[in-house]
Amino acid sequence: MAQKKVIVVGGGPAGIMAAGIAAQKGNEVILMEKNNRLGKKLLISGKGRCNITNATDIEGLIENTPGNGNFLYSAFYTFSNQDLIDFMNELGVRTKVERGDRVFPESDSAKDVLHALQNFLNKNKVRIMTECAVKRIHAKDGRVIGVELLNGNIMEANSVILAVGGMSYPGTGSTGDGYEIARKLGHTITDLKPSLVPLITKESWVRDLQGLSLKNVSVKFKNPKGKEIYNDFGEMLFTHFGVSGPVILSASRHLLSYDFKDIMLSIDLKPALSEEKLDERIQRDFDKYNRKQFKNSLDDLLPQKLIPVIVYLSQINPEKPVHQITKEERKRLVTLLKGLECTIIAARPIKEAIVTAGGIKTNEINPSTMESKKVKGLYFAGEIIDVDAYTGGFNLTIAFSTGYLAGISCNSEE
Ligand SMILES: Cc1cc2nc3c(=O)[nH]c(=O)nc-3n(C[C@H](O)[C@H](O)[C@H](O)COP(=O)(O)OP(=O)(O)OC[C@H]3O[C@@H](n4cnc5c(N)ncnc54)[C@H](O)[C@@H]3O)c2cc1C
Repeated sequence: MAQKKVIVVGGGPAGIMAAGIAAQKGNEVILMEKNNRLGKKLLISGKGRCNITNATDIEGLIENTPGNGNFLYSAFYTFSNQDLIDFMNELGVRTKVERGDRVFPESDSAKDVLHALQNFLNKNKVRIMTECAVKRIHAKDGRVIGVELLNGNIMEANSVILAVGGMSYPGTGSTGDGYEIARKLGHTITDLKPSLVPLITKESWVRDLQGLSLKNVSVKFKNPKGKEIYNDFGEMLFTHFGVSGPVILSASRHLLSYDFKDIMLSIDLKPALSEEKLDERIQRDFDKYNRKQFKNSLDDLLPQKLIPVIVYLSQINPEKPVHQITKEERKRLVTLLKGLECTIIAARPIKEAIVTAGGIKTNEINPSTMESKKVKGLYFAGEIIDVDAYTGGFNLTIAFSTGYLAGISCNSEE
């Protein structure tokens, strides 16, 4: 097969994979990145530990991709999560599996992952151009002919892979440039919304809990009609505006269709205990502290920061001696601890979301090649596509798998 000139736009995980694979297949490849270095977002992924993928099966990958998971069958079958683990291992990145089948580098370092990927590009002789922002992709007679840089230079190519990411965390370079570039070529961009995003709450007491992280809580979200729409178990965090942390971020994906408005969040602070058992437990604590005031009797039961808030919400007089607390009041306390409620009124902006939901409409892309159905020789990879997944390594899997598929496909046409 004749050598082709392939330009890959965007040096994130999708673009790096696409560029390295296209070069391995014998193409002359240029990778263009507007930052002064590759993989800025990859470096902060997984809090700097990089949750590379998830050790589930392919069905599990699809199930964990609520945003158009079915579009990804070919990508995942062509380059699966196991292929990604093998690939990383071959590059010298040993991996380990943690809770929830999350796969991390053994070194807990996203830097090591990026370093290995850079070696992969060098080995395959990819020409890397940093500080090189692409403004436009040119096409003629329905075929890609090249890209135009921000400085006005035009560079010719037989194929272009657009992998510039979404519009979350713009400080990493993902500023949404790709949507306009694709729109100019006739592509549809679906609604862009924040996903895996912290949530804003109405109640002022939530702010008093800022910085408090709760492990092992059970959360339920109810729509304005009181119907349960999502539940989960795990870790959450209170912030100066509302709530965040793993269970909240995952839940946010389910609240997209409600526009994040008027959703009731109910937190079970003691999910391991039934109401009856919790009441018994409280009675034991009250016996132990029977000379103390109510506000000083909850030290064994709750984190310090939470105590004043629970005392306030319980509407029990904080100064009341514990032995005077009535059965009714105790029942109110139990109900509160089993369902601490606050109201979600909005999500934080898209720039604070872990991923952007929405993007290039999937039915305008060939799922077996990632090629545009509108412009020959144009391919898409990664978060720019209208696909998004939960936390757990699924979004990086999407980036690497679609990048791989675009990389092997871009020299396969006539
Ligand atoms: C804080 C945080 C933590 C995360 N942690 C995880 C995790 O642990 N596991 C997981 O699976 N997912 C995680 N994600 C999501 C994951 O990082 C992204 O889904 C993934 O990086 C998308 O890859 P991408 O290559 O499509 O886009 P990006 O990684 O966004 O890369 C796109 C690149 O294109 C460049 N670019 C943009 N415009 C232009 C232009 N005009 N010209 C040239 N270059 C351009 C950008 O500078 C950028 O380098 C996390 C996201 C965030 C924000």
